[in-house]
Amino acid sequence: MQENTNINGAHDGNSDSNGVTGSCQLRVAIIGGGIVGVAMALGLLRRNMAVRLYEQAGNFREIGAGVAFTTNAQTCMALLSPDILAAMKAVSTKNESPYYTYVDGYRCGPDQTDDDNDMRETQLYQLHAGTTGFDACHRAHFLDEMVKHMPEGVVAFRKRFETYAFDEDLEEFTLRFEDGSTATADVVIGCDGIKSRVRQVLLGEDNPASYPGFAHQVAFRGLVSMERAVATLGKDKAHNQCMHTGPGAHLLNFPVAQHTLMNVVAFAPAPGDWVHERMVAPAGEDELPAAFAGWRPAVRAIVGLLQELEEGRLDKWAIFDTYEHPAPTYASGGVCIAGDAAHATSPHHGAGAGMGIEDALALATVLDLAAKTMQGGDGSKTKRATVAAALAAYDAVRRERTQWLVRSSREVSKTQQVGCQVLSHQPQDGISEVIIVKCPVEG
Ligand SMILES: Cc1cc2nc3c(=O)[nH]c(=O)nc-3n(C[C@H](O)[C@H](O)[C@H](O)COP(=O)(O)OP(=O)(O)OC[C@H]3O[C@@H](n4cnc5c(N)ncnc54)[C@H](O)[C@@H]3O)c2cc1C
Repeated sequence: MQENTNINGAHDGNSDSNGVTGSCQLRVAIIGGGIVGVAMALGLLRRNMAVRLYEQAGNFREIGAGVAFTTNAQTCMALLSPDILAAMKAVSTKNESPYYTYVDGYRCGPDQTDDDNDMRETQLYQLHAGTTGFDACHRAHFLDEMVKHMPEGVVAFRKRFETYAFDEDLEEFTLRFEDGSTATADVVIGCDGIKSRVRQVLLGEDNPASYPGFAHQVAFRGLVSMERAVATLGKDKAHNQCMHTGPGAHLLNFPVAQHTLMNVVAFAPAPGDWVHERMVAPAGEDELPAAFAGWRPAVRAIVGLLQELEEGRLDKWAIFDTYEHPAPTYASGGVCIAGDAAHATSPHHGAGAGMGIEDALALATVLDLAAKTMQGGDGSKTKRATVAAALAAYDAVRRERTQWLVRSSREVSKTQQVGCQVLSHQPQDGISEVIIVKCPVEG
C-alpha cells in the first residue's frame, strides 16, 4: 500500500513502503478501526496480506459499555487469528451461571411484595449460553488488547475516507481522504460502521439502502461498580446476566471487567423521528425513570444505579439498523462492506459485533484463496477478476445470514416485553432448546 501525492499535488510525506506488511501482491485497504476493522486487519496480516487500515479518529477508541461474544463468535476469532481470541479472553468475564436468565421485571409475583427492598422477580425462562459461555468485555479493553497485536505502520489515523475510483489500466483503486491525501489498493473493505461512507459510495448516495433507519428505540448504558451492584441487588443478580422484561421496554445487566463492573443497558421506546445529528444525545432527567416507573424494585434500583453515574447526566443512544432497507449486495468488483457497515442491527441478539467477526473470517478466507490463486495460477485470470470473484463469494455466503439477524433482532425485542407468555420449552440435545413464546399482536 502506498500513499501518493494528494489531490492538491503535495506529497503527504509517507514513504512507499508504509503499511506493506506482507509479501502477497494483494494490497488491502480497510476503512474503519472499530472491533471489526481491527479484527479484519489482524486476520489478513496472519495470512500475509499487505494491509493498511485507515481510521478517521486520532486513535483507537470504543465508546459504549460492554460487549459480549457468543460461542460462535469466539470460534471465528480463533480461526481468524488466535491473537484475537487471546485478546478477548485476556479481558473478558464469564457469567457465573451457564445460562442467560429472563425474568418478569414488571409484574409482582405471587410470593413477592412491592416493598422497595424486595429484589425478587419471577423467572420466565433460561437459555443455555453455549459450550464456551457468553464472554463479556469492556469494549475499550478488548480493542486495546487487540491493538497490541497490530504491527507498526499498518494503521493511518486521521484519515477520513471520502471516495474511491478504479483505474482500469493499473487495475487498482485510488482512495481519497478528507485531508486531500490519496492511497492506492487492490481491495477496499469498508468497516466504517453504521453510517458507512463506503456503503454510500458502493450502493449510491440516492439508494435508501445506503442509510440506516431509526428503530424507534433508545438505549441508556452504563458501567456500575460491582460493589454498588452487589450491595443493591445481591450477589446472584449482580454477577449474572439477567434480562428484565416488561411493557414496551427491557433492561439487561451482565458482569464485565473480571466481575469488577456490572454492565447495564436499558431499552425504551422512542416514537417519532430521531432529530439529533449524532446517534447519542443527552437524556432528559426523568426520561429513564419514566420508562421504568412502576416496575419491580430490582429494576428501579438498577435504574437508580445508572442515574448515580455522571451525576444523573445520562446519554441516550438511538438504535438504528438496516431493517427497512437492507443492502442489495455487500460487494461490487474489488470493494466490499463488513460489520455494521453492511448490516447494522438493533442489539437484541447481542451478536452484531460477533457477526462482523464472522464477516472478517469469511473475507480473510476468500481473499487468501484469491491471493493463492493468483500466485499459483497460469495468468489466465486478471487480478481484478480474481478479487471480484472472491468478494462475490463473500457476499453470497454472508448476506442472508446477517440480514436474518437484523430482522430477527427486531422480533426478539418483542419477546422481551411483558404480555409475552412462554408456552413451552422443548429441549433439543441437552444444550439447546426451543422455547415457544406467544406475544401480543402489534397495533
Ligand atoms: C446497546 C448496544 C449493545 C450491543 N451489544 C452487543 C453485544 O453484546 N455483542 C455483540 O456482538 N454486538 C453488540 N452490539 C453491536 C456492536 O456494538 C456492533 O455491531 C459493533 O461494535 C460494530 O463494529 P464495527 O467495527 O463494524 O463498527 P464501529 O464500531 O462503528 O467502527 C467503525 C469505525 O470506522 C470509523 N469510521 C467511520 N467512518 C469513517 C470514514 N469515513 N473514514 C475512516 N474511518 C471511519 C469510526 O471512527 C470507527 O472507528 C451492541 C450494540 C449496541 C448499540
